[in-house]
Amino acid sequence: MLKSIGTKKGGWKTVKERRALYIGRFQPYHKGHHAVIREIASEVDEIIICIGSAQRSHEIENPFTAGERYLMISKSLRAEGINNFYIVPILDVNWNAVWVSHVEALIPPVQVVYTNNPLTKRLFKERGYEVRTPMLFNRKSFSGSEVRRRMLCGENWEELVPPAVVEVIREISGVERLRELAKSDKEE
Ligand code: ATP
Ligand code: MG
Repeated sequence: MLKSIGTKKGGWKTVKERRALYIGRFQPYHKGHHAVIREIASEVDEIIICIGSAQRSHEIENPFTAGERYLMISKSLRAEGINNFYIVPILDVNWNAVWVSHVEALIPPVQVVYTNNPLTKRLFKERGYEVRTPMLFNRKSFSGSEVRRRMLCGENWEELVPPAVVEVIREISGVERLRELAKSDKEE
């Protein structure tokens, strides 16, 4: 895409818009994702955030629906005045060789992909994309698995996610859902 920008001399020049892709499951969206997206949003013109495994929800590893994850991301970014993003939910195809084409069919064109996931990195590189590896922020605590673990154990998970995510999870009784999912119907 081309866009016109004003020059210092008062004229106009046409430059290429830079659009980036960031993919995650966001179960839930946490401060690590938030720090990365904040950085990407300042480096490129627009960021496309794909919610992977969109069809998954109500599982211990994937408790939240795509719509709930959508709310977590959009509310957290808007709260910081970040508006140059589009969110696209992506269903799993369980077929790595066609996955990039599947994603391409659903998103606006992007020039650069940001990911720490080795498989995502490999697949997009093979299709000719520029792939960048963002810094990991406090990965021990800022991880979806750790947030879910703390929710189950009654520990402080709230400090690991942006305030808007705490609100969304409260609104949908997310912790209660996760705890019920963890129960068994077998004899004790
Ligand atoms: P889970 O433990 O459920 O796998 P996760 O924290 O790895 O959750 P994902 O949604 O699987 O989150 O990951 C999306 C992307 O965010 C991946 O590229 C992952 O490497 C990256 N990411 C996860 N945690 C951090 C972090 N603390 N700092 C920077 N990037 C992160
Ligand atoms: Mg992960």
